[in-house]
Amino acid sequence: MLLEDVATIIAHAHDVRASLREIVELLAERLDMEVCSLYVYDVARKLLVLAATKGLDPQSVGKVSMRVDEGLTGYAVEKLEPVMAVDALAHPRYKYFPETGEERYHSFLGVPVVDKREPLGVLVVQTSRRRRFTRDQIRLLKAISAPIGGLLVRAQLQESLRSKEEERRSAHDRMLEVTQRLQAYEREHGRPRPAAAAALGRLPGLGASPGFGIGRAHLLKPQVSFAGVQRQRRGSAKRELARWQSAVERSVEEIGRLAHRVRATLPEIDAAMFEAQRLMLGDPNFVGRVEALIRGEASAEHALEQVLGQMIAEFERIADPYMRDRLFDLKDVGQRLLRNLLGVSERTTPSAAAAFVLVARELTLSDLPMMEQQGLRGIVLATGGVTSHASILAKSLEIPTVVGVEHLEDAVHEGDQLIVDGNAGIVYISPAPDVLREYERLGREYRAFNRELETLRELPAETRDGHRVSLTANVGLLGDLVLAMHHGAEGVGLYRTEFPFMSHRDFLTEDEQLDLYRMMLQRLEGRPIAIRTLDMGADKYPSYLRLPREENPFLGWRSIRISLEMPELFSAQLRAILRASAYGDVRILFPMISGLEEIRRIKELLAQAQEDLHREGHAFNAELPLGIMIEVPSAVRLAPELSQEVDFFSIGTNDLIQYLLAVDRNNPRVAPLYEPLHPAVLRAIADTVVAARAAGKRVTICGEMAADPACSLILMGMGLDGLSMGPFFIPVIKRLIRSVELTRARQLAAELLRLETVKEIKGCLFEGMRALGVIDFMDMYH
Ligand code: PEP
Ligand code: MG
Repeated sequence: MLLEDVATIIAHAHDVRASLREIVELLAERLDMEVCSLYVYDVARKLLVLAATKGLDPQSVGKVSMRVDEGLTGYAVEKLEPVMAVDALAHPRYKYFPETGEERYHSFLGVPVVDKREPLGVLVVQTSRRRRFTRDQIRLLKAISAPIGGLLVRAQLQESLRSKEEERRSAHDRMLEVTQRLQAYEREHGRPRPAAAAALGRLPGLGASPGFGIGRAHLLKPQVSFAGVQRQRRGSAKRELARWQSAVERSVEEIGRLAHRVRATLPEIDAAMFEAQRLMLGDPNFVGRVEALIRGEASAEHALEQVLGQMIAEFERIADPYMRDRLFDLKDVGQRLLRNLLGVSERTTPSAAAAFVLVARELTLSDLPMMEQQGLRGIVLATGGVTSHASILAKSLEIPTVVGVEHLEDAVHEGDQLIVDGNAGIVYISPAPDVLREYERLGREYRAFNRELETLRELPAETRDGHRVSLTANVGLLGDLVLAMHHGAEGVGLYRTEFPFMSHRDFLTEDEQLDLYRMMLQRLEGRPIAIRTLDMGADKYPSYLRLPREENPFLGWRSIRISLEMPELFSAQLRAILRASAYGDVRILFPMISGLEEIRRIKELLAQAQEDLHREGHAFNAELPLGIMIEVPSAVRLAPELSQEVDFFSIGTNDLIQYLLAVDRNNPRVAPLYEPLHPAVLRAIADTVVAARAAGKRVTICGEMAADPACSLILMGMGLDGLSMGPFFIPVIKRLIRSVELTRARQLAAELLRLETVKEIKGCLFEGMRALGVIDFMDMYH
């Protein structure tokens, strides 16, 4: 973990300048920032001086300095708060220092280094890609700024005392502390720590569910094992087969009960999770192979062991991470069958009132009762990917989780104190008091932040002059709905149906899709949902769909083009969506529309599907609202004609920007050119709104741009009826909308639409936001 590594550098600091350089280099590398610099505040001269940098011209160290009322870096000291600018160059507080060569860098985040509310310096990261720094990154830098502050204070002290001896002793003390901890570990466990990472008391892994959890380790071991099982069957094949079959039946029953329990307590969990296990118990390739071995000489246990071994080996050869995650289902079923064969009953839930962290090699659906424990603060797994069932469950239960932790079983023992950092994907074992304190503070802040969001949940996104904007969520999986509801989404503005398709073994059947959509609707409790038909291809395609290699996949066979060329697949989805419309407020949305032929062909297929369903006696909403994504420039040009064909437009700026500006949305090299505030983008949106308005149709936006506070303000001013975004962003955008008046936002949007360059637009937007008193939304992501 970074924090710990920074602490280690500081602990060994002899030469403060060299240590600062080491720290900025480490931060730039680990956080993947092109620039990381530290400015130190010179109290006597009241100047911020560049003390270390990775990325800017090293010659400028010690030479570049600025007053506190100058530049964005000074602004961070003035505010004593982090300052973020997605485009620093357009920020009025931006000050250019030619000696640094920093004009290439657009995005800026400056975090003040503070001691007892007194500024000591500013830690700055910059990227050339125009980007928004995440809340976690801001938190992390804030956390890191504390030990840096400690180092600077220490350096000042040392400077004033001029005592080299003192410096050496403090480094020595820290070394001694680490050595003592290592020795204590060895005394307690009878052997040294197994790996260097563990020696430092931290284990890296993958963050699978966010948040911070602190508690005592509780190790979960498998209940039964194949070691020592009888190899040859004792009785007749008939008796052994009967024993096996009754174990299969009991296992089926148990899984049924578990599925029921999950549906009752965790409705957001994909039912398909249990299906996979139930299917295995009916799979002739599995059950049949075991039975064949029993008919030979093997005992049921040994037959199971052999077949499982073969299947696990087959699974392990598959590179696809999703399929590899399904390995856990297989192992889980194996454990369950063996337990039932051996007559061992299901694990009962231990009563754990005290805070604990579950530590296991892997966690399966059968361990769900453990995951519902009151005292559970975190989960740490040796294996598992972020798409494993345990990870999905943990996320929906909001339990901080780290998976894929090497050396876990060697390093952690029952009762060890652990910190689970689900954001960074780090586990601390018996953490030092300062690390513990830091995490306790982070945990408190995290809870306070969530509480604050909750206060907004029930309030409408209504401007001060009474204009309501609908704020909906973009979702991909059933589990995302929990977050969407939690953050107060009014419905789902974009359901990317390709997500479930990507995590299945094959195309979902009509009935499977219907089940999924119905579950969505049930959880939405009457709120609307726009179900978008498959948008596969380009960067999203499932392993079972073999797409041709293309020179330009974003301009190739993707999205609606695939659907229209695979009418059977497409019709199954149309039918499923139509049938779902009998159960709730469903709208249908088609991606990547580029001309009228496509929408007319779609309407023919839709009419055919309706006719068939009607004939078959299925219920559906005959007036199902039909919308299209406006994300191809030709659709913008044809918006007046397209608006006659459909009920609503949803503008997909993620693609629209890339097609309009000819900038690949995933290519970091051209990322600075990917500009939502480009005049051509704003005008394309405005034209689309005008066309929709003229036809009396609703128009919303569902690209990432909607989640950017500065953009969302103008989008509202441009007359969009709704904004759809990742659930996490809803409260912030709601807070912004509730702090402004529509009339002012309209004036600002009209003004921006008259401007000709990005720079002018950003300057005017900045001034406008300042005048509206919402400038903080631009600087800093809350
Ligand atoms: C878009 O293109 O803006 C959009 C919302 O769709 P996706 O990101 O799924 O392509
Ligand atoms: Mg798109």
